Amino acid sequence: MESERPTKVEFAVQMTCESCADKVRAVLQGKPGVKSVDIDVGKEEVLVESSLTSAELQTLIESTGRRAVLKGLGGSQQDLGSAVAIMSGVGQVQGVVRLLQLSEERCLIDGTIDGLEPGAHGLHVHSLGDLTQDCLSCGEHYNPFRRQHGGPVDSERHVGDLGNIVAGLDGRASFRLEDSHIKVWDVIGRSLVVDSEEDDLGQGGHPLSKQTGNSGQRLACGIIARSAGLFQNPKQICACDGVTLWEERDRPIAGKGRSRESAGTPAAHL
Ligand code: ZN
Repeated sequence: MESERPTKVEFAVQMTCESCADKVRAVLQGKPGVKSVDIDVGKEEVLVESSLTSAELQTLIESTGRRAVLKGLGGSQQDLGSAVAIMSGVGQVQGVVRLLQLSEERCLIDGTIDGLEPGAHGLHVHSLGDLTQDCLSCGEHYNPFRRQHGGPVDSERHVGDLGNIVAGLDGRASFRLEDSHIKVWDVIGRSLVVDSEEDDLGQGGHPLSKQTGNSGQRLACGIIARSAGLFQNPKQICACDGVTLWEERDRPIAGKGRSRESAGTPAAHL
């Protein structure tokens, strides 16, 4: 289900003066889907309450000529848990998907995956966070209630059945879904997998329809890991490899290029 309810998205944006902030505010304020914009020049923070995807907001902010780095997503009140999956796999397919538990019944899933063939691709939470044989060791669709495969709005579905995401002609799928079955605390340590073909949501009549949606090969996957929620990110968002916030923006989001030796690799699409 597409999410219409606004959520807070926090970006770090390089801003040196109030007039920079005014330019950023101008591209956001009044846009369909944008409810409010809060800018703190001193902290170089932009907080947007909107129903747009984080990638759409980032594109708007960067249209001012400034770089923006996503720092976090937040609900309206408490943070019930958030997680991130860094997706990588076959060839050029890579991405970042964030999960945020907005309430007991609502999990927001916001992500960008690049390098896909244009069209629909099945997206599922798989039961295991095991990448020892790449995406093949992720297990089957997460299915604790032993149901048949289905679509996200069906009651007969695997908990992991998130339906399809759609890539544009540029190979990018930018999406924001809300799901009532997924609970962040239940899926941390499992994996997220994007497939080569469209998921038929159990309706295709193929022998695999009721098992996997017949969505082809596993293209890319990532372990779902606990992450910081809104306002919890330190300035160094990836202390693991010593990359600062601004350097991070120019790194591939996953794969070999993340290592320190390969600085100067092409810009990432965070
Ligand atoms: Zn399934």
